Amino acid sequence: MPEKKKSTERFEMPVAECLVQGNKTLIKNFDSICKTLRRDSKQVSKVILRELAASGSMQGNALLIQGKFSDKTVNEKLEYYFKNYVLCRECGKPDTHFDSEGRSTILVCEVCGARKPVK
Ligand SMILES: [Zn+2]
Repeated sequence: MPEKKKSTERFEMPVAECLVQGNKTLIKNFDSICKTLRRDSKQVSKVILRELAASGSMQGNALLIQGKFSDKTVNEKLEYYFKNYVLCRECGKPDTHFDSEGRSTILVCEVCGARKPVK
């Protein structure tokens, strides 16, 4: 018996388009990445910059980072964000949102209802 095809599509992680300008790196499609992940660009940039140990700021739809970073490095950090702040660890679905519980932030899964505190 062939296995029934699941209706849920695999979520495709958006790929960052980086542009190095002098000593700065511009993630051109940062805003659209955040929209795909259904996350606030401010919150995403905070985590990405912390992981890169760099400073930066939003420039329109792009994130401007102080320092030179390769596409590979930036995409690794985005994947880190995705795994820790988007993906549900119980069921592996990206349909999640943040909730607050006292002073901590909780990642709530809209599929299975799992709640996990995030850093
Ligand atoms: Zn879940």
